[in-house]
This record gives sequence, structure tokens and C-alpha cells, in this order.
Amino acid sequence: MLSRYILGNRVDSLTMDEAVDKIAEFIKEGKPHHIVTMNAEIAYQAYNNPQLQAVINRADLVTADGSGIVWAAKKLGKPVKERVTGIDLLKALANEGSKRGWRFYLYGAAPGVAAKAAKRLEQDYVGIKVVGTKNGYISEREMPALIKDIKGVKPDILLVGLGAPRQEYWIARHLEEVQVPVMIGVGGSFDVLAGVVPRAPEWIQRLNLEWLYRIVKFKRFKRALALPKFMLAVLKEARQEEQEKGS
Ligand code: UDP
Repeated sequence: MLSRYILGNRVDSLTMDEAVDKIAEFIKEGKPHHIVTMNAEIAYQAYNNPQLQAVINRADLVTADGSGIVWAAKKLGKPVKERVTGIDLLKALANEGSKRGWRFYLYGAAPGVAAKAAKRLEQDYVGIKVVGTKNGYISEREMPALIKDIKGVKPDILLVGLGAPRQEYWIARHLEEVQVPVMIGVGGSFDVLAGVVPRAPEWIQRLNLEWLYRIVKFKRFKRALALPKFMLAVLKEARQEEQEKGS
């Protein structure tokens, strides 16, 4: 597997099929593995945060989630084979897992959403085994019970939908403890599967201003700004590499 570095972050060059094969190998091996699907926003955060960058670079597999990463790899003269997004990887694993009998556990999203996403997976991928779900808003105090539950039902794949980078830190911190062969941060994928759109606070809904809330939602705004910053940093890195080659 060929690895590339973008702003100091590792990304692996592989197709969706190769990613699924790799994950099947991880399951066979049995020891815990961390998989990151890296988009431009998280790559830019990690560029400015050595702790997060270390977590990403220590992962067992880092896929190119998003066209920003694919563009950057190409720009730096180290193209990756294919874009492998979190939601697409989740679906490909559900498909393969339903044939191979893999056991899935879904942890994350608002109460009820992971269970709804699980139902959806059971409908769409007949024979899939979802062995547990838990919402992503439990307290630290409830964490030991969650870990115990996960260990008890022995999933092959633990999908962690806490949003990035919370899910990456959670996986890195609990990897050895939960001993699940494959742990993947899947961001808002459970919301997508369950068809749930996160709602605005109730007072905004009461004022009929939810549409406005969606447009100006701070996080989305900040997110939108991360992409040009990421692109500028990549262009700078590409220029530096050119200069180094030339000198
Ligand atoms: N979330 C969670 N616990 C938290 C914070 C967020 O489970 O403490 C969930 C949230 O409900 C949503 C997901 O994490 O389902 C974050 O989705 P988003 O699209 O913001 O993240 P991204 O896909 O960009 O990582």
C-alpha cells in the first residue's frame, strides 16, 4: 500500500475495493486497527495540531475522503488511486459484511439515530449483523458500561460517528481497551443513513427561522472556510517542493 503525505498527514493510495480487502485482512488478523477517512477540513486541522496529526499518522489505514484530498495529492505529484469517503466505505463494508457474516456495532449520533441507521442497513443489506448501537451523547461516567457492552457482543467493525476529530481521539484512546479488529470514524454517516437532518434549537424553530439557521450555522461556515485555507497551504507546500527540487 502506497502512502502519501499532504501537509504532514498520511493518506493511503487505494481503491474502494482495495480498502475493503485491507479491512477484511484486519478482521482476519484480529488485533485492533484504526481507520481514518480524511477530508480537507480534518487534514487542515491536523496540519495545525501535532496531536491530531500523530493520531492520523499512527492509524492503520487513512483513506482520501473528499475531492480536496484527491486534488492535493495530485497537486503534490503524489496522486491517490481513488476517493474513498466514509459513507461509501460504510456501505461497501455493509455489503461485504452481509455476505461474510461480519458483526457491526454503531456508536454515535443523537439518541435513536444509530438504531434507525441500523434498521436501514438491515433493510438494504439482507443478512447483515448489527450487534449493538449507542448514541454519541453519553457521559464519561457511562463510558465503562459502553466499553463493556461492546466487548461483550464482540463486533468485527465498530463504526464511530462522533464527528471529526472527536471520533479519531475516541478511537485512539480506546483502541487497546475495546479490542475490536476494525474501528472507523464515520462522521455524520448515521444521520445520512437514518435520513435525519439535525434540527435547529427549538427557539429558532419557533420563530420559523430554521432555514436561516441552516444557512448561517457557524460550523458550516467555518467548514467552508477550511477548504480555501487547506488549498492555499497545499499550494505553498507544492511550491516549496518545486524549489527544493530545483536547488
Ligand atoms: N455527535 C455525537 N456526539 C457528540 C457530537 C457529535 O455523536 O458529542 C454526532 C452528531 O450527532 C453527528 C456527528 O457526530 O451525527 C457529526 O456529524 P458531522 O457531519 O458534523 O461530522 P463530520 O461528518 O463532518 O465529521
